[in-house]
This record gives sequence, structure tokens and C-alpha cells, in this order.
Amino acid sequence: MRDLLIAGNWKMNGSSAMSAELVDGILAGMPAAAGIRMLVCPPFPYLALVAGKVAGTRLMLGAQTVSEHESGAFTGEVSVSMLQDNGCRYVIVGHSERRSLLGESSDVVAAKFGAARSAGLVPILCVGETLDDREAGRTEAVIAEQLGAVVDAHGATAFRDAVIAYEPVWAIGTGRTATPDQAQAVHAYIRGTLAALDASVAKAVQILYGGSVKGDNAAALFAMRDIDGGLIGGASLKAADFLAIAQGAVAARN
Ligand code: PEP
Repeated sequence: MRDLLIAGNWKMNGSSAMSAELVDGILAGMPAAAGIRMLVCPPFPYLALVAGKVAGTRLMLGAQTVSEHESGAFTGEVSVSMLQDNGCRYVIVGHSERRSLLGESSDVVAAKFGAARSAGLVPILCVGETLDDREAGRTEAVIAEQLGAVVDAHGATAFRDAVIAYEPVWAIGTGRTATPDQAQAVHAYIRGTLAALDASVAKAVQILYGGSVKGDNAAALFAMRDIDGGLIGGASLKAADFLAIAQGAVAARN
């Protein structure tokens, strides 16, 4: 059975004081249940502070994006080795906000995925359709293109020790959640697409759901066969809300 991963994407929120208080709150209430892992992805300036707090605990640290380049004249960018130097084990790549607001193409996202993966940082590849895509029946085509860019660049085996997050754009920050059946259908499509290329990679890869996950809908989502946890935005900014989602994971496993 795959572990469940509950990952918090803080986006561009917080301060030193808020980051410290939030991590302290999560650490104080984290479930000790086996098979449930938790991860926080703060903004770059707070990585070192949070790294100091999570050292020696079960709470893991990740970043929200990374450069595809190793080093050099890329003003404002942050490299894989810099993230590792600051205690990160995971990095989110291809979040829909970066795809739509910052123009990151699937090829750029695939390059970031490859840079992270080859250095041993676990990439969390975000994929997901807009409402227009869904209403036009293009959900699977969109996912196939986003997933396919990584497969074409690095092969299906690149998903060994990687994570995928299915995040329907229409559910992010909107309060509108995919139903467990809607999410499961896309997760099954993702796993099936990978299984056609490499059955063992498909069986092992964690596929998270993201999009307005809350304490009251988490357990039903995480109980679905191909949903292996959540990527959480808004509800990761308050320890009590994030921990309620972790309790949903515990309930889904019992
Ligand atoms: C996200 O941005 O990754 C996300 C899932 O946000 P929210 O939980 O706020 O919908």
C-alpha cells in the first residue's frame, strides 16, 4: 500500500513569525500514524527557518518551484542544490499558477522536473485542466500533454520516486472541490497512462489531489483507491486546518 502524503503549499504568504508559529503548531499536533507523511513548502526566504524547526522531526520540507539551470546568470532564480542546501527534500513543479501567470510551458516544467529528479530532490509534478477544458471534454488530453512532456524528456522511469499532483484549475482556491469520484477518475487515468509504459512505476507513484481540500472532505477523497494524499493551498496556512486534513488521512486509512 502506498503512503499518503499531505503537502502544504504556502504560496506567497506569511512572514518569519507566521512561519515559525505555523510549523510549531503542525509539529505539536502531527499524527504519528504509520503510512502518513507530511510536508510543508514555504516561500524561499523562510526555508532555512523552517528547516531548523523540522530537523529531526517527521515533518518534511519542500519548495514551491526551482530553476531548471544549475547555476549562473539567472537573476532571481534558485537552483536545486540551493534547495538541498536548505534542507528541502521535495519541490513542486508546474503549479497551475506558474503555468498560467508566469508562462511556464510543459517543456520548461519537464526540464525543472528533470533537474530536481537527477539531483535526488523529489519533484511534485502538478497537472490539471481548466473549467473550459473540462466542459469541452478535454480533461484527459490536457493531462496527457502535461504528463507526456515529462515522459518524452525523461522516460516513464523518471516517475520512480517522484510525485504527481492532480489539481483541477477550477478547484484551486475556489472552494469548489472535485468529488471523490471525479478526482478518482482522473487519478486512474494518470496511473493507467503510466502503467501502459511501466507497470511498477505506475503502481508505486504517489498521486495527490489538490483543489480546495479541507478537513471535512479530506477523508472521502483520500479513501479513493488512486488518491494518495493531497496538495493543500489555503488550508495549509493554519495549523488546525492542516492538521484536520491530516486527521482525514488517518481516518481514510482506518
Ligand atoms: C494549490 O494551489 O495547490 C491548492 C490546491 O490550493 P487550495 O487548496 O487553496 O485550493
